[in-house]
Amino acid sequence: MYNVKSQKAEEFINHEEIVETLAYADANKDNIALIDTIIEKARLRKGLSHREASVLLACEMPEKTEEIYALAEQIKKDFYGNRIVMFAPLYLSNYCINGCVYCPYHGKNKHIARKKLTQEDIVREVTALQDMGHKRLAIEAGEDPVNNPIEYILECIKTIYSIRHKNGAIRRVNVNIAATSVENYRKLKEAEIGTYILFQETYHKESYEKLHPTGPKHDYAYHTEAMDRAMEGGIDDVGLGVLFGLELYRYEFAGLLMHAEHLEAVHGVGPHTISVPRIKHADDIDPSAFDNSISDEIFAKLCALIRISVPYTGMIISTRESKEVREKVLPLGVSQISGGSRTSVGGYCVPEEEDDKSEQFDVSDRRSLDEVVNWLIKLGYIPSFCTACYREGRTGDRFMSLCKSGQIQNCCHPNALMTLKEYLEDYASQDTKEIGLKLIEKELNNIPNEKVKKTAYEYIHDIAEGKRDFRF
Ligand code: SAM
Repeated sequence: MYNVKSQKAEEFINHEEIVETLAYADANKDNIALIDTIIEKARLRKGLSHREASVLLACEMPEKTEEIYALAEQIKKDFYGNRIVMFAPLYLSNYCINGCVYCPYHGKNKHIARKKLTQEDIVREVTALQDMGHKRLAIEAGEDPVNNPIEYILECIKTIYSIRHKNGAIRRVNVNIAATSVENYRKLKEAEIGTYILFQETYHKESYEKLHPTGPKHDYAYHTEAMDRAMEGGIDDVGLGVLFGLELYRYEFAGLLMHAEHLEAVHGVGPHTISVPRIKHADDIDPSAFDNSISDEIFAKLCALIRISVPYTGMIISTRESKEVREKVLPLGVSQISGGSRTSVGGYCVPEEEDDKSEQFDVSDRRSLDEVVNWLIKLGYIPSFCTACYREGRTGDRFMSLCKSGQIQNCCHPNALMTLKEYLEDYASQDTKEIGLKLIEKELNNIPNEKVKKTAYEYIHDIAEGKRDFRF
């Protein structure tokens, strides 16, 4: 039985409810009166239910899709302005005992080089990331209680936060590791992680079990209930995601929104972010073996619908997507992207050709961080290296209320400009610096509160003088 507040995976992600939702969406995909009512509701910026959003996803009328895109763009502007937060993944270890059939790190892959970073390796990798200008990382690891126990992950986090190289510092470490216990989530919280990210891969239980035939990840309920345990352990920023291509996208979309509704209903705060990865080629993985791949058009529609369905939830696009696809979906609601990424263990310290051999998946956007920053500025975005919210304790519902109060423009906007200024001073190429400084000059005028504007001017001036790490 469907129960949004249940603690049981099969009740809050209820298969029958999803099947009924998809039937309802099909039955109403040409019901213009209903579709208009749903779009009107979305205009209130309070989100949509999984049923409502599923009707919009099923609707194929081009003029309605245009309306949805325009609304997504508007909501994106209202909540996130033109800021795009930058991050990079850091692969700690590819030892893994799971059997995920879409991932080259699966335990049975005997020819991929297995590697785990030592603390000295981490210093080298993080120094290389700091030299690019990164301030925010997402750490990634396979699941292996012997090689990658929680103590190892915690030690790595401590090392990462401790590294100071020139003006560099990693100020926020998000964590993408396998589902774990409340006790371990508590330890991660104590280690001051930012967001705990865990992709559901697929919400379809039967497919999930086939796609994860062996290892601890096989347990659908343990995996699906992980965010509840994370929140019980005190982590209030969690990041959801599905791996598009594994199952029917309409099923996944309904499941994703039901998961968000569940977190909101039980914990009073929805997901901090949603990621939208698509399956990619990798070592012994052929994406064409998965026959639910989605076109770029559907991908863009999913992004737009996520934006209007959960307006307060950030949306992340990785370098799995090409420059072209990223450019298309950025205005539709994406708030965070990675840049200059390497998806192999130790990848930031080896030449790119060598990196190819042990990547977790092929990267489509291979540009350097500076090239990505330059491109964003030319598109009219503010690349932001801000990590202020969680360092100021603005996590979970406190972040959400800031969003809802509309005060974000007096807070995130100047923070984005100040961290961009740091990037331009310390890491940017000449061209990026020139266009970036002009952008900052222009955007400072868009800070609504006069007092904040004046302080931001002063801080930006101080950054040019060599001072660092200002935040509102
Ligand atoms: N091992 C952790 C777990 O079990 O959740 C998470 C780390 S894993 C490095 C990060 C994510 O990469 C996975 O959750 C999966 O969605 C994604 N991934 C795995 N294989 C992929 C592929 N071939 N193409 C694109 N993404 C992939």
